[in-house]
Amino acid sequence: MSKTDSVVKIYDKYIMNTYKRVPLCLEKAKGSKVWDIDGKVYLDFFPGWAVSGIGHCHPLIVRAIDKQAKKLLHVSNNYYSELQARLAKEIISNSFPGKVFFANSGAEANEAAIKLARLYGHNKGRFEVITMTKSFHGRTLAMITATGQDKVKKGFEPLPHGFVHVGFNDIEAVGEAITDKTIAIMLEPVQCEGGINIARHEYMKALRKICDDKDFILIFDEVQTGMGRAGNMFAYQNYGVTPDVMTLAKSLGGGMPIGACVANEKFQDVLTPGTHASTFGGSPIVCAAALAVFDAIKKEKLIQNANRMGAYLKKKLESLRSKHHFIKEIRTMALIVGVELTMKAEGIYRECLKEGLLINCTQDTVLRIMPPINVTKAQIDKAISILNKVFTKV
Ligand SMILES: *Cc1c(COP(=O)(O)O)cnc(C)c1O
Repeated sequence: MSKTDSVVKIYDKYIMNTYKRVPLCLEKAKGSKVWDIDGKVYLDFFPGWAVSGIGHCHPLIVRAIDKQAKKLLHVSNNYYSELQARLAKEIISNSFPGKVFFANSGAEANEAAIKLARLYGHNKGRFEVITMTKSFHGRTLAMITATGQDKVKKGFEPLPHGFVHVGFNDIEAVGEAITDKTIAIMLEPVQCEGGINIARHEYMKALRKICDDKDFILIFDEVQTGMGRAGNMFAYQNYGVTPDVMTLAKSLGGGMPIGACVANEKFQDVLTPGTHASTFGGSPIVCAAALAVFDAIKKEKLIQNANRMGAYLKKKLESLRSKHHFIKEIRTMALIVGVELTMKAEGIYRECLKEGLLINCTQDTVLRIMPPINVTKAQIDKAISILNKVFTKV
């Protein structure tokens, strides 16, 4: 029995069966390369569900964590931490004037955004949040309700009130969904789990105008799109449309668990003592890692690299499309890449795994490819040759 098989056996007995897993047990990683416990090497073009956005075990992150671990791991949030202060300042200076609340995950960052919206609307009796079909906002009860996909809700009813879903990129539908109870509109600039659906420019501008006109809160969930992958620090910056509230997680911590809810100056003081909290939120060790992520993105010009490599990957995928006619469409925003097939994508994804390439498939027919933003041309060439081989086989 392989080492992997023996770990799988223990999972079967002791770990709740909440994930559709593939038999891959990783032991170590560096950049875009990972090793399983049986010694096989893989090229990772979906590192940790977009968490390890600047590659696995980036030396700056590792050093920051190592240094901080010897000083202070955690402090309670009724004291101050210099690292949390520095990280909030860094997030704000890269986005828009405002303030940050720190949580530990994407779902929690979104919970904070919704609680902020509820509190702001409370005196006016407004609480409804409009979200989009095919969205994904996390797995808490409120966030499965916010998520515009039935598959995450089934069996968990009764769900909280106050969420209304409309079609993505459909501005008329938003207009029709507005009631005297509406307080916010929440969406991902690119729906990643939803199949790499990219918001249109005029749509984003129209949403901004509705929120300005009606005093609604425009919330962008940038949990997956943030931190350079979109070709800007945040995806909204590609639109010239700034949200009132933005949520972050995934690659913000470079592998450490963190979530952040960022509110602009208008909404920055809505949450007050006693209204919201998180025991672990913004702990020094996690903030040290997140600061290192910003540092690396700047020092190594990774946003430039995301743009350059995004264009290169797109070109290479387009050339595959001319050879393999089951590739229906390629949708990209820098290194957020979706390849829609005319058939189920799972077989391809599993075959890639066998050939040593880690990618993802979502919404049945879409291959989701999100290499680290410090990916190189040579690594893209390797991935493309594996994809070509797999596409040729099926
Ligand atoms: C992953 C994800 C979430 C949920 O984040 P968790 O850390 O798993 O709670 C929310 N929104 C988007 C857009 C995501 O990609």
